Amino acid sequence: MAYVIAEPCINTKDTACVDACPVDCIHPKKDEPNYATAELLYIDPVECIDCGACVPVCPVSAIFALDDLPEKWHEFTAKNAAYYGR
Ligand code: SF4
Repeated sequence: MAYVIAEPCINTKDTACVDACPVDCIHPKKDEPNYATAELLYIDPVECIDCGACVPVCPVSAIFALDDLPEKWHEFTAKNAAYYGR
């Protein structure tokens, strides 16, 4: 299981989660070249250690444990993984 970033992140891309993540598995960061064009931020499902530290810091409540991801946003699981070629 991994955490997933969903629809509320689109056009927000706050990156508080990036700073909170202990294993640096949320990208793109603000200083990465594709940050400006990315639709949202993404969690690497292989590197994520399921700590949950990113969830409370997100100002738009865009991050969910896989089991808590609303059904209407289920496609974001694949979107997050695809960013990393998973
Ligand atoms: Fe990073 Fe933990 Fe969030 Fe996974 S659950 S993305 S390891 S802060």
